[in-house]
Amino acid sequence: MSPSSPTTRNIRIFRYHPSNGDAGHFDSFALAIPDETTTTILDVLLRVQQEQDPTLAFRYACRVNMCGSCGLVINGQERLACKTNVAHIPAGQEITVRPLNHFPVIKDLVVDMEPFFRKYEETLPFYEPQQEDSEPVPIRPDSRERQDIGSATECIACGCCLSSCTMAHYHEGYAGPASLNRAFTLLADSRDGLFEERLSRAMESCYNCRTEFNCTEVCPKSISATRAIKYIQRLAISKSGRRSSPAIEAPAPGPAAGMAALQATDRRTFLHQASVGLLGAGAAAALGIVGTGAAIGPSLFKTLKQWVPLAPLEEIPAGDVTTVLMKYELKGGLYTERLSVPVLVSRRGDEIVCFKANCPHLGCMVKWDGASGRFRCACHGGSFNRDGSILAGPPPRSLDRYVFKVESGQLLVEVG
Ligand code: SF4
Repeated sequence: MSPSSPTTRNIRIFRYHPSNGDAGHFDSFALAIPDETTTTILDVLLRVQQEQDPTLAFRYACRVNMCGSCGLVINGQERLACKTNVAHIPAGQEITVRPLNHFPVIKDLVVDMEPFFRKYEETLPFYEPQQEDSEPVPIRPDSRERQDIGSATECIACGCCLSSCTMAHYHEGYAGPASLNRAFTLLADSRDGLFEERLSRAMESCYNCRTEFNCTEVCPKSISATRAIKYIQRLAISKSGRRSSPAIEAPAPGPAAGMAALQATDRRTFLHQASVGLLGAGAAAALGIVGTGAAIGPSLFKTLKQWVPLAPLEEIPAGDVTTVLMKYELKGGLYTERLSVPVLVSRRGDEIVCFKANCPHLGCMVKWDGASGRFRCACHGGSFNRDGSILAGPPPRSLDRYVFKVESGQLLVEVG
Protein backbone atom coordinates (compact mmCIF):
# COMPACT_ATOMS: atom_id res chain seq x y z
CA MET A 1 0.00 0.00 0.00
CA SER A 2 1.42 3.41 -0.90
CA PRO A 3 1.02 6.09 1.79
CA SER A 4 -1.81 7.76 -0.09
CA SER A 5 -3.76 4.66 -1.14
CA PRO A 6 -7.38 5.07 -0.10
CA THR A 7 -8.70 2.16 1.94
CA THR A 8 -11.89 1.18 3.69
CA ARG A 9 -11.67 0.06 7.32
CA ASN A 10 -14.26 -1.55 9.53
CA ILE A 11 -14.38 0.05 12.96
CA ARG A 12 -16.02 -1.50 16.03
CA ILE A 13 -16.75 1.01 18.76
CA PHE A 14 -17.97 0.28 22.28
CA ARG A 15 -21.33 1.86 23.02
CA TYR A 16 -22.94 2.37 26.39
CA HIS A 17 -25.73 4.61 27.54
CA PRO A 18 -26.58 4.58 31.25
CA SER A 19 -30.30 4.91 30.67
CA ASN A 20 -30.96 2.18 28.12
CA GLY A 21 -30.42 -0.80 30.42
CA ASP A 22 -27.71 -2.25 28.18
CA ALA A 23 -24.47 -3.44 29.77
CA GLY A 24 -22.66 -2.19 26.69
CA HIS A 25 -22.19 -3.46 23.15
CA PHE A 26 -20.14 -2.74 20.02
CA ASP A 27 -21.44 -0.91 16.95
CA SER A 28 -19.73 -1.39 13.59
CA PHE A 29 -18.98 1.32 11.07
CA ALA A 30 -17.23 1.25 7.70
CA LEU A 31 -15.14 4.26 6.78
CA ALA A 32 -13.26 5.21 3.61
CA ILE A 33 -9.86 6.51 4.60
CA PRO A 34 -7.89 8.50 2.01
CA ASP A 35 -4.48 8.09 3.66
CA GLU A 36 -3.98 5.79 6.65
CA THR A 37 -0.57 7.22 7.48
CA THR A 38 -1.97 10.68 8.20
CA THR A 39 -5.32 9.67 9.69
CA THR A 40 -5.44 9.19 13.43
CA ILE A 41 -7.94 7.12 15.37
CA LEU A 42 -9.20 10.43 16.75
CA ASP A 43 -9.85 11.57 13.16
CA VAL A 44 -11.74 8.32 12.61
CA LEU A 45 -13.93 8.89 15.70
CA LEU A 46 -14.62 12.48 14.68
CA ARG A 47 -15.64 11.37 11.20
CA VAL A 48 -17.89 8.61 12.52
CA GLN A 49 -19.53 11.17 14.80
CA GLN A 50 -19.89 13.77 12.04
CA GLU A 51 -20.87 11.44 9.20
CA GLN A 52 -22.64 8.44 10.72
CA ASP A 53 -23.68 8.77 14.36
CA PRO A 54 -23.77 12.16 16.11
CA THR A 55 -24.58 10.48 19.46
CA LEU A 56 -21.12 8.88 19.72
CA ALA A 57 -19.41 10.19 22.87
CA PHE A 58 -15.64 10.39 23.34
CA ARG A 59 -13.21 12.79 24.96
CA TYR A 60 -10.39 14.80 23.42
CA ALA A 61 -8.86 18.27 23.61
CA CYS A 62 -5.37 19.08 22.36
CA ARG A 63 -4.96 16.57 19.45
CA VAL A 64 -1.17 16.72 19.93
CA ASN A 65 -0.40 14.16 22.67
CA MET A 66 -0.29 16.76 25.40
CA CYS A 67 -3.57 16.75 27.30
CA GLY A 68 -3.97 13.03 27.92
CA SER A 69 -7.74 13.08 27.49
CA CYS A 70 -8.11 10.67 24.54
CA GLY A 71 -6.63 7.53 26.15
CA LEU A 72 -8.50 4.46 24.86
CA VAL A 73 -7.99 0.74 24.35
CA ILE A 74 -7.38 0.39 20.62
CA ASN A 75 -7.10 -3.13 19.28
CA GLY A 76 -6.39 -4.39 22.77
CA GLN A 77 -3.73 -1.89 23.77
CA GLU A 78 -3.92 1.39 25.63
CA ARG A 79 -3.03 4.28 23.34
CA LEU A 80 -3.82 7.94 22.76
CA ALA A 81 -6.32 8.20 19.90
CA CYS A 82 -4.58 11.35 18.66
CA LYS A 83 -1.18 9.64 18.56
CA THR A 84 -2.28 6.42 16.87
CA ASN A 85 -2.49 6.43 13.11
CA VAL A 86 -4.73 4.01 11.28
CA ALA A 87 -1.58 2.74 9.59
CA HIS A 88 -0.36 1.52 13.03
CA ILE A 89 -3.10 -1.13 12.89
CA PRO A 90 -2.09 -3.96 10.53
CA ALA A 91 -3.40 -3.47 6.99
CA GLY A 92 -6.95 -4.63 6.47
CA GLN A 93 -7.50 -5.44 10.15
CA GLU A 94 -10.67 -4.32 11.83
CA ILE A 95 -10.16 -1.45 14.29
CA THR A 96 -11.67 -1.97 17.73
CA VAL A 97 -12.01 0.95 20.13
CA ARG A 98 -13.15 0.66 23.73
CA PRO A 99 -12.86 2.70 26.93
CA LEU A 100 -9.98 2.34 29.39
CA ASN A 101 -10.09 -0.61 31.80
CA HIS A 102 -10.66 -0.14 35.56
CA PHE A 103 -12.54 3.15 35.04
CA PRO A 104 -16.32 3.55 35.40
CA VAL A 105 -17.84 4.24 31.96
CA ILE A 106 -20.00 7.34 31.76
CA LYS A 107 -21.08 7.01 28.14
CA ASP A 108 -19.61 5.15 25.14
CA LEU A 109 -15.86 5.85 25.29
CA VAL A 110 -15.96 8.46 28.05
CA VAL A 111 -14.80 7.26 31.45
CA ASP A 112 -14.98 8.80 34.89
CA MET A 113 -11.42 9.83 35.83
CA GLU A 114 -12.37 10.64 39.43
CA PRO A 115 -11.00 7.40 40.99
CA PHE A 116 -7.74 7.94 39.12
CA PHE A 117 -7.28 11.49 40.39
CA ARG A 118 -8.41 10.53 43.89
CA LYS A 119 -5.58 8.00 44.06
CA TYR A 120 -3.25 10.58 42.56
CA GLU A 121 -4.23 13.02 45.27
CA GLU A 122 -3.74 10.45 48.02
CA THR A 123 -0.07 10.09 47.11
CA LEU A 124 0.49 13.86 47.64
CA PRO A 125 1.29 14.89 44.07
CA PHE A 126 2.22 18.46 45.01
CA TYR A 127 5.64 19.86 45.77
CA GLU A 128 6.16 21.14 49.31
CA PRO A 129 9.39 23.09 49.81
CA GLN A 130 11.52 22.18 52.81
CA GLN A 131 11.86 25.83 53.65
CA GLU A 132 10.54 29.13 52.42
CA ASP A 133 12.83 30.62 49.79
CA SER A 134 12.48 33.94 48.09
CA GLU A 135 14.05 32.52 44.91
CA PRO A 136 13.29 29.25 43.08
CA VAL A 137 15.75 26.53 44.08
CA PRO A 138 16.97 24.90 40.88
CA ILE A 139 18.17 21.32 40.39
CA ARG A 140 21.22 21.22 38.16
CA PRO A 141 20.42 19.42 34.86
CA ASP A 142 23.57 17.30 35.19
CA SER A 143 22.95 16.35 38.83
CA ARG A 144 22.39 12.71 39.73
CA GLU A 145 18.92 13.35 41.12
CA ARG A 146 17.75 15.19 38.00
CA GLN A 147 19.04 12.39 35.82
CA ASP A 148 17.34 9.83 38.06
CA ILE A 149 14.02 11.65 37.76
CA GLY A 150 14.49 11.96 33.98
CA SER A 151 11.30 12.14 31.93
CA ALA A 152 9.09 10.92 34.78
CA THR A 153 7.80 14.46 35.28
CA GLU A 154 6.28 14.46 31.78
CA CYS A 155 3.25 12.39 32.75
CA ILE A 156 0.06 13.75 31.19
CA ALA A 157 -2.27 11.76 33.48
CA CYS A 158 -3.92 9.94 30.60
CA GLY A 159 -4.65 6.83 32.68
CA CYS A 160 -3.30 4.40 30.05
CA CYS A 161 -0.88 2.85 32.55
CA LEU A 162 -3.57 2.23 35.13
CA SER A 163 -5.80 0.67 32.50
CA SER A 164 -3.04 -1.73 31.47
CA CYS A 165 -2.20 -2.75 35.05
CA THR A 166 -3.58 -6.16 36.03
CA MET A 167 -2.88 -5.49 39.71
CA ALA A 168 -5.27 -2.52 39.70
CA HIS A 169 -8.05 -5.05 39.29
CA TYR A 170 -7.00 -7.14 42.29
CA HIS A 171 -6.01 -4.44 44.79
CA GLU A 172 -8.67 -1.82 45.24
CA GLY A 173 -6.43 0.39 47.33
CA TYR A 174 -3.51 0.22 44.92
CA ALA A 175 -2.39 3.74 44.03
CA GLY A 176 -1.39 2.59 40.54
CA PRO A 177 1.52 3.38 38.24
CA ALA A 178 0.83 7.05 37.49
CA SER A 179 0.41 8.03 41.15
CA LEU A 180 3.53 6.13 42.19
CA ASN A 181 5.45 7.63 39.29
CA ARG A 182 4.45 11.06 40.56
CA ALA A 183 5.43 10.12 44.12
CA PHE A 184 8.80 8.98 42.79
CA THR A 185 9.51 12.34 41.11
CA LEU A 186 9.03 14.06 44.47
CA LEU A 187 10.73 11.43 46.63
CA ALA A 188 13.82 11.77 44.48
CA ASP A 189 13.73 15.58 44.68
CA SER A 190 16.02 16.81 47.46
CA ARG A 191 14.18 20.14 47.71
CA ASP A 192 10.93 18.51 48.77
CA GLY A 193 9.83 18.65 52.39
CA LEU A 194 7.36 15.77 52.58
CA PHE A 195 9.69 12.82 52.14
CA GLU A 196 8.56 10.77 55.16
CA GLU A 197 4.86 11.25 54.55
CA ARG A 198 5.11 10.54 50.83
CA LEU A 199 7.08 7.38 51.42
CA SER A 200 4.74 6.04 54.06
CA ARG A 201 1.76 6.64 51.74
CA ALA A 202 3.49 4.96 48.80
CA MET A 203 5.00 2.04 50.73
CA GLU A 204 2.01 -0.26 50.89
CA SER A 205 1.03 0.32 47.28
CA CYS A 206 4.49 -0.12 45.86
CA TYR A 207 4.43 -3.80 46.85
CA ASN A 208 1.23 -4.41 44.88
CA CYS A 209 3.28 -4.10 41.69
CA ARG A 210 4.22 -7.45 40.13
CA THR A 211 6.69 -5.95 37.65
CA GLU A 212 4.73 -6.91 34.57
CA PHE A 213 5.93 -3.79 32.70
CA ASN A 214 2.47 -3.27 31.12
CA CYS A 215 2.41 0.36 32.26
CA THR A 216 5.86 0.97 30.82
CA GLU A 217 4.91 -0.63 27.53
CA VAL A 218 1.80 1.47 26.94
CA CYS A 219 2.86 4.90 28.25
CA PRO A 220 2.54 7.38 25.37
CA LYS A 221 5.23 9.55 26.94
CA SER A 222 7.71 6.65 27.23
CA ILE A 223 7.79 6.91 31.01
CA SER A 224 8.72 3.78 32.92
CA ALA A 225 6.36 3.72 35.90
CA THR A 226 7.83 0.26 36.62
CA ARG A 227 11.21 1.87 37.20
CA ALA A 228 9.62 4.51 39.44
CA ILE A 229 7.90 1.81 41.49
CA LYS A 230 11.14 -0.18 41.82
CA TYR A 231 12.83 2.97 43.09
CA ILE A 232 10.16 3.36 45.78
CA GLN A 233 10.47 -0.33 46.65
CA ARG A 234 14.19 0.16 47.21
CA LEU A 235 13.44 3.12 49.48
CA ALA A 236 10.93 0.97 51.32
CA ILE A 237 13.51 -1.79 51.76
CA SER A 238 15.97 0.76 53.10
CA LYS A 239 13.33 1.99 55.52
CA SER A 240 12.55 -1.53 56.68
CA GLY A 241 16.18 -2.25 57.30
CA ARG A 242 17.00 1.08 58.81
CA ARG A 243 17.65 1.40 62.51
CA SER A 244 18.51 5.02 63.12
CA SER A 245 19.32 8.32 61.51
CA PRO A 246 22.93 9.42 61.26
CA ALA A 247 22.24 11.94 64.01
CA ILE A 248 21.29 9.18 66.44
CA GLU A 249 24.04 6.76 67.34
CA ALA A 250 22.86 3.21 66.76
CA PRO A 251 23.51 0.57 69.39
CA ALA A 252 26.09 -2.11 68.69
CA PRO A 253 24.82 -4.70 66.24
CA GLY A 254 22.98 -7.55 67.88
CA PRO A 255 19.65 -9.28 67.93
CA ALA A 256 18.16 -6.50 70.00
CA ALA A 257 19.00 -4.16 67.17
CA GLY A 258 16.67 -6.07 64.82
CA MET A 259 14.06 -4.46 62.65
CA ALA A 260 11.56 -3.29 65.16
CA ALA A 261 12.41 0.30 65.88
CA LEU A 262 12.30 2.67 62.97
CA GLN A 263 13.50 6.05 64.05
CA ALA A 264 13.72 9.42 62.40
CA THR A 265 15.48 9.26 59.06
CA ASP A 266 16.61 11.71 56.47
CA ARG A 267 16.28 11.74 52.69
CA ARG A 268 20.00 11.72 51.98
CA THR A 269 20.50 8.50 53.93
CA PHE A 270 17.52 6.83 52.31
CA LEU A 271 18.59 7.72 48.81
CA HIS A 272 22.13 6.73 49.64
CA GLN A 273 21.01 3.33 50.86
CA ALA A 274 18.53 2.88 48.07
CA SER A 275 21.30 3.14 45.51
CA VAL A 276 22.75 -0.17 46.70
CA GLY A 277 22.08 -3.00 44.27
CA LEU A 278 19.07 -4.79 45.62
CA LEU A 279 17.48 -5.78 42.32
CA GLY A 280 18.51 -8.67 40.15
CA ALA A 281 20.68 -7.38 37.35
CA GLY A 282 18.37 -8.75 34.68
CA ALA A 283 15.31 -7.00 36.02
CA ALA A 284 17.24 -3.82 36.65
CA ALA A 285 18.58 -3.80 33.11
CA ALA A 286 15.04 -3.95 31.84
CA LEU A 287 14.22 -0.80 33.79
CA GLY A 288 16.41 1.39 31.61
CA ILE A 289 19.89 2.77 31.78
CA VAL A 290 19.33 5.21 34.62
CA GLY A 291 17.41 2.65 36.63
CA THR A 292 20.15 0.13 36.00
CA GLY A 293 22.80 2.54 37.18
CA ALA A 294 20.88 3.30 40.31
CA ALA A 295 20.03 -0.31 41.01
CA ILE A 296 23.21 -2.15 40.30
CA GLY A 297 25.75 0.60 39.90
CA PRO A 298 27.65 0.11 43.14
CA SER A 299 27.96 -3.60 42.50
CA LEU A 300 29.87 -2.83 39.32
CA PHE A 301 32.76 -1.61 41.41
CA LYS A 302 35.26 -4.12 42.64
CA THR A 303 34.84 -4.40 46.39
CA LEU A 304 37.05 -6.21 48.86
CA LYS A 305 35.73 -9.08 50.90
CA GLN A 306 35.60 -8.45 54.61
CA TRP A 307 34.39 -10.13 57.79
CA VAL A 308 31.71 -8.15 59.62
CA PRO A 309 30.89 -8.88 63.28
CA LEU A 310 27.18 -9.63 63.55
CA ALA A 311 26.54 -10.38 67.23
CA PRO A 312 27.91 -12.35 70.19
CA LEU A 313 26.73 -15.90 69.63
CA GLU A 314 25.22 -16.05 73.12
CA GLU A 315 22.78 -13.34 72.04
CA ILE A 316 21.36 -15.47 69.21
CA PRO A 317 18.56 -17.56 70.74
CA ALA A 318 18.90 -21.27 70.03
CA GLY A 319 15.99 -22.89 68.17
CA ASP A 320 14.80 -19.65 66.65
CA VAL A 321 15.32 -17.37 63.64
CA THR A 322 16.57 -13.95 64.61
CA THR A 323 16.85 -10.83 62.50
CA VAL A 324 20.13 -9.05 63.17
CA LEU A 325 21.00 -5.69 61.71
CA MET A 326 24.50 -5.81 60.24
CA LYS A 327 26.25 -2.45 59.98
CA TYR A 328 29.37 -2.03 57.93
CA GLU A 329 31.12 0.08 55.33
CA LEU A 330 31.46 -1.04 51.74
CA LYS A 331 34.32 0.57 49.86
CA GLY A 332 33.97 0.58 46.09
CA GLY A 333 35.65 2.85 43.54
CA LEU A 334 35.52 6.40 44.87
CA TYR A 335 32.67 5.73 47.23
CA THR A 336 32.22 4.37 50.70
CA GLU A 337 28.74 3.09 51.47
CA ARG A 338 27.61 2.86 55.09
CA LEU A 339 25.20 -0.01 55.14
CA SER A 340 22.65 -1.39 57.57
CA VAL A 341 21.57 -4.78 56.27
CA PRO A 342 19.23 -7.21 58.02
CA VAL A 343 20.54 -10.77 58.27
CA LEU A 344 18.27 -13.71 59.12
CA VAL A 345 20.13 -16.00 61.49
CA SER A 346 18.68 -19.47 61.96
CA ARG A 347 20.09 -21.38 64.92
CA ARG A 348 19.11 -25.00 65.58
CA GLY A 349 21.36 -26.76 68.08
CA ASP A 350 24.87 -26.42 66.66
CA GLU A 351 23.58 -25.62 63.17
CA ILE A 352 23.75 -21.93 62.21
CA VAL A 353 22.63 -20.52 58.86
CA CYS A 354 22.86 -16.81 57.95
CA PHE A 355 20.38 -15.94 55.19
CA LYS A 356 20.27 -12.76 53.14
CA ALA A 357 16.99 -10.98 53.82
CA ASN A 358 16.32 -10.13 50.19
CA CYS A 359 14.19 -12.33 47.95
CA PRO A 360 16.26 -13.77 45.06
CA HIS A 361 13.40 -12.85 42.72
CA LEU A 362 13.48 -9.04 42.75
CA GLY A 363 15.21 -8.20 45.97
CA CYS A 364 12.22 -7.34 48.12
CA MET A 365 12.36 -7.91 51.85
CA VAL A 366 12.06 -11.42 53.31
CA LYS A 367 10.95 -11.88 56.91
CA TRP A 368 10.65 -14.84 59.23
CA ASP A 369 7.08 -15.74 60.14
CA GLY A 370 7.34 -17.70 63.38
CA ALA A 371 3.62 -18.60 63.38
CA SER A 372 3.83 -20.53 60.09
CA GLY A 373 7.47 -21.50 60.51
CA ARG A 374 8.50 -20.12 57.13
CA PHE A 375 10.20 -17.13 55.56
CA ARG A 376 7.85 -14.86 53.66
CA CYS A 377 8.55 -12.41 50.88
CA ALA A 378 6.85 -9.03 51.18
CA CYS A 379 5.64 -8.52 47.63
CA HIS A 380 5.36 -11.67 45.54
CA GLY A 381 3.69 -14.18 47.80
CA GLY A 382 6.92 -16.15 47.87
CA SER A 383 7.71 -18.32 50.87
CA PHE A 384 10.66 -20.46 51.92
CA ASN A 385 11.06 -23.18 54.52
CA ARG A 386 13.44 -23.05 57.47
CA ASP A 387 16.27 -24.24 55.20
CA GLY A 388 15.60 -21.42 52.76
CA SER A 389 14.16 -23.69 50.04
CA ILE A 390 11.23 -22.36 47.99
CA LEU A 391 7.76 -23.37 49.15
CA ALA A 392 5.66 -21.05 46.97
CA GLY A 393 5.75 -18.07 44.62
CA PRO A 394 8.03 -16.91 41.82
CA PRO A 395 11.51 -16.86 43.45
CA PRO A 396 13.91 -18.64 41.10
CA ARG A 397 16.08 -20.18 43.79
CA SER A 398 16.50 -20.73 47.52
CA LEU A 399 17.38 -17.87 49.84
CA ASP A 400 20.97 -16.72 49.45
CA ARG A 401 23.29 -17.41 52.37
CA TYR A 402 26.26 -15.64 53.86
CA VAL A 403 29.50 -17.38 54.59
CA PHE A 404 30.00 -17.07 58.35
CA LYS A 405 32.35 -18.05 61.15
CA VAL A 406 32.44 -17.90 64.95
CA GLU A 407 35.52 -16.38 66.51
CA SER A 408 35.97 -15.73 70.22
CA GLY A 409 32.26 -16.20 70.74
CA GLN A 410 31.43 -13.63 68.05
CA LEU A 411 29.37 -14.46 64.92
CA LEU A 412 30.89 -12.88 61.79
CA VAL A 413 29.66 -12.95 58.18
CA GLU A 414 31.60 -12.35 54.99
CA VAL A 415 30.52 -9.49 52.71
CA GLY A 416 31.90 -7.79 49.63
FE1 SF4 B 1 -0.27 8.29 30.93
FE2 SF4 B 1 2.34 7.55 31.07
FE3 SF4 B 1 1.33 9.28 32.87
FE4 SF4 B 1 0.60 6.70 32.98
S1 SF4 B 1 2.69 7.51 33.32
S2 SF4 B 1 -0.78 8.47 33.15
S3 SF4 B 1 0.55 6.18 30.77
S4 SF4 B 1 1.53 9.60 30.63
